[in-house]
Parts: sequence; structure tokens; C-alpha cells
Amino acid sequence: MHAFPKNTRRRRGNGRPARSPDLVPYVVPWDSEHVGGVSALTTEHHGGYSRLAYKAPRESDRDGAEVLWTRHTQSRGVGNPKFAAMHSERQFECMYALKCQVCAEPASRNKDGYLFLSWPEDQPHPENRSPGWPEGALTTQPPLCEAHARTAARLCPHAPHFVALRVGLPKLWGVLGTAYPRTVGGWVIDNTIPELRFGDPRLRHVLASHLVRQLRKVKIVELP
Ligand SMILES: [Zn+2]
Repeated sequence: MHAFPKNTRRRRGNGRPARSPDLVPYVVPWDSEHVGGVSALTTEHHGGYSRLAYKAPRESDRDGAEVLWTRHTQSRGVGNPKFAAMHSERQFECMYALKCQVCAEPASRNKDGYLFLSWPEDQPHPENRSPGWPEGALTTQPPLCEAHARTAARLCPHAPHFVALRVGLPKLWGVLGTAYPRTVGGWVIDNTIPELRFGDPRLRHVLASHLVRQLRKVKIVELP
């Protein structure tokens, strides 16, 4: 389906929530879940280049494009949900496998494609903004099943701006993350980098937190 090596980033945890509050989307992180600190990072030489790495590497640290990913612990349902964010591993899981971001079941798909919700400001970086939005737009928001598209359109703070889309070709495109270039003075943390396409040399010093798809063969539709 996609030109992306399979089985390259394994899911950790059993994927089942400790408890499953109906209105907390699967991709939402909880305050008991933690991301790793900068102290776990180092640089290494690989293929003639220096790149970001973990001091104690695990097989699941990199995706099929060799991009290093944020480590995010899994304890879904424990503590309080942080609705404004997404859990990096669960976002990857849903976006990669085109699962509903709320329930993690297969996203709605019909002859016109997968069901996504989007809005023009979903793509904040001008250099990546699609002039033909929504055709060609980049998104970190995984697709939805029909029932949860209706729920999201009712409850989400972005809801007034939502447009329902059928996407015939949601192409795996790249990642969104944080750059960690290392200087003689130590780490420089750059949160402002845009979505980077797979193959971009800047990815060697990026810790990815969101998988990005590009929406192609897009139709604007009514919410099903
Ligand atoms: Zn769903």
C-alpha cells in the first residue's frame, strides 16, 4: 500500500487501556505517561554522518526511514488526559495503520478513500502549506471512524473549522518533531522546525513525535 518498510517500529505495551473512558481519544496522552529527557540522548556516527541516538538503544527506537522517535511511556487511563496533545506512539500506531484516532479500530473507508477531519490551519508551517488545500495538505491527525468523526466534530475545540474529507491517497510523508543539534556548548533544542519529509538530511538530528501523511486525491464531503 505504501512505500514504507513494514514492521520497522514495534508497538510497545499491550495496546489495551487500563480503563477506557469513552470520550478520551486513544491518541490523547495522560499525565502519568512520560517522554524521555535529553539526558538519554547522544550522537553517533552512522553511514558517514553524525546522527542523534539514544545512549541505550532499543530496536523500536527508529522507524523504517531510520528516524529516531520520542520514547513515551504507556499508562493510558491513569491520571488525567491532556487533550491538547497526542501520545507519540499511539499517534504513530493510528496514523501508520490508518486506525481511528479515538477508538483505534479501522478508520472509515469507502470508494473515495479514508475519512479525515482537517482545517486550513492544521498545517502551520508556511513552507509546507499546500496552496491547493486540502489537496496536498500535510497532517498529523490520524483518520476516524464515522461515529467518532461525528463526536470529534461536536466536541473538539477546532470543531467550528472542521471539514470532513475523503482521502484516496493518504501518503506517508515524513515526521514532525524537535531538532537536537549538538554544539560544543551542549544540546540546542529547536521546537520550531516544520514537518520534514523522509530523506531530509535534517532528520538526522530530529527526535520525531508525530507521523505525517500528505492528503492526496481529496474530496470535501458531508460528515457521514
Ligand atoms: Zn472510532
